[in-house]
Formats: sequence, structure tokens, C-alpha cells
Amino acid sequence: MSAIAFIGLGQMGAPMASRLLAKGHSLTVYDINRAAMEKLAKEGAKKASQPSQAANEAEFVITMLPDGAIVREVLFGVHGVTETLKKSALVIDMSTIHPLESEKLHYDMTQAGFSYMDAPVGKTSDHAVTGTLTILAGGTDQQIARAEDVLLCMGSEMIRCGGTGNGIKVKIVNNFMSIALNALSAEAAVLCEAMALPLDKAIQVMSGTVAGKGHFTTSWPGKVLAGDLSAAFMIDLAHKDLNIALNVAGQLNVPVPLGAAAREVYSQARACGRGKQDWSALLTHVRTLCGLRQTVE
Ligand code: NAD
Repeated sequence: MSAIAFIGLGQMGAPMASRLLAKGHSLTVYDINRAAMEKLAKEGAKKASQPSQAANEAEFVITMLPDGAIVREVLFGVHGVTETLKKSALVIDMSTIHPLESEKLHYDMTQAGFSYMDAPVGKTSDHAVTGTLTILAGGTDQQIARAEDVLLCMGSEMIRCGGTGNGIKVKIVNNFMSIALNALSAEAAVLCEAMALPLDKAIQVMSGTVAGKGHFTTSWPGKVLAGDLSAAFMIDLAHKDLNIALNVAGQLNVPVPLGAAAREVYSQARACGRGKQDWSALLTHVRTLCGLRQTVE
């Protein structure tokens, strides 16, 4: 069992720290909120008065904090972790922070002779309570191997993301997708309601289609990702169908700003001569806009 300092005992951090205690690890906790520390102390954790005190004896320091500036303050500020941290310890930042801040923290920690990795989490506080988070491990193979047992006390699955910084990068892209999709889902649901279509029926249908499953694992692998832009479903037809939906939404006074923005992308792809290509060719189109080299045109 390991000596672990856990800093940041909020909605996520508190249940994650509880899981580590339940698995028998020796935990020292720190949070600016004293009540949060008291709760963990009742479960057997030691309380620290500063991050430096928490880190004093630690083999692992885990941070689960609101943003990158706070993680930096906790590591490098006055009475910060690095004032007392052993060079043999491993710092694991599990917060969701800006990838560039994470990269700079990694650089500064490494320059100071410390070991630092990113391991943000997927899912929600409910999964933190049950220890079923998805851990997105960035870091070297050695760091991940060393941290694995500790990390899997808090999660049911750990994905090796392929190098330092990749945990937080994939977390941000994942959230970009799921958060934007939430807004698009709300537009679709309100459109159902405005058309007096039962939402449960729409969900039943869309759970089995690309609408519910997403493109990465359905329409893309056999097409654009395989270098094949021949149409299984043409951009021209997708554009036509999207226009019908936008027209219905307009007649029913349903605002669909994301749907309307998507239509512009399809219009643009058609204007660039891609109307007869597969709809997955939007990837190729957007890559072209970004000046990225194409493997398939
Ligand atoms: P939270 O606001 O509930 O908890 C943050 C904790 O950090 C609080 O207890 C706060 O007192 C403490 N804190 C703030 N400044 C501090 C400092 N200087 N020193 C010590 N402690 C300090 O947030 P949360 O929901 O637990 O989220 C933590 C991180 O996990 C965030 O980066 C968040 O984006 C990420 N995350 C959250 C969820 C979720 O569902 N809530 C899911 C995945 C990832």
C-alpha cells in the first residue's frame, strides 16, 4: 500500500480519495475547504495544513482541482507541494485543465527534477463514488505502470493514451464532442416535441443509427478513414435532408443554431465540388480548410 497525498476534495476528489482509503492506502488530504477534509479524516485520512505538508512523505501526489492556475499554485506556490516533495515521488494531475497549461506544468516539474503525469477522468461524480471512472493516462510507460494500481482504485478502466499530455488532450476532445452533442441533442429533442413526435420513439430509432451512435465508429471507418470517398450517402443528399429539417424547424419556430451551422459546412463542401462524395468526406473538407495534407482527395 502506498502513501498518497490527495489535494482537492470536491465533488470528484472526495469520493476518489474515499476509494483510495477503502483500498487500504495511507492518505493525507488537503483542501482549502476544511469541512471537506474533516469528512475524509473521519474515514481515516490525515489532514494537512498546507500542500507542502500533505506532500512531505508521499510516494504519490494526486491533484483534482478546478483549473490549471490552481494546480500550478498548489504545486509551485508558497507552501506548495514542491517545497517538500521527494524526488522519487510521482505527481498525478487528474484535473481537467488546458493542455498547454498541463504541458508547461510537466516541463517545469521535470526541470525541477520531479516526476509528473496527467491522468484526467471520464464520466461523472456518480462513477467517482462507485470507483468506475475511466482513467485517461498520459505519461511515460514507466510512470503509468507505477501508477496503475493506484489509479485503478478509482476507475474500472484505464486507457493508456500514448504519451505525456495525451490524457488531457483526449479528455478535452472528448468533452468538446460530448458537450457540443448535448446542445445538438436538445435541438433534435425540441424539434420532435414541436412536431408532436414522441421523444421515446425518436430515441428508439436513433439509438440504432449514426445519429445516436456517432460517426467515429459507424460511417467513418469503412469510408473516409479507409481512404474511400465514394458515396454510401452523398453530401448532396445529406444537405437536402438537413435543409428539410431546418425548414420544418423554421415553420415551427424551433431555434436550431447548431443544425443551421452544420448546413453551412455542407453547403461549403458542395461549393468545393464534394457534393457527390460520401458525407464522411466532410473530414477531408475540414482538413483542407485547415491546410492539412490530404491522404485522399
Ligand atoms: P469541485 O469544485 O467540486 O472541487 C474542487 C475542489 O478543489 C473544492 O473542494 C475546492 O475547495 C478545492 N480547491 C480549490 N482551490 C484549492 C486550492 N488552492 N487548494 C486546495 N484545494 C482547492 O470540482 P469537481 O467537480 O470535483 O472537479 C474537479 C476537477 O475534475 C475539475 O477539473 C473538473 O473539470 C474535473 N471533472 C469533473 C467532473 C464532474 O462530473 N464533476 C467529471 C470529470 C472531471
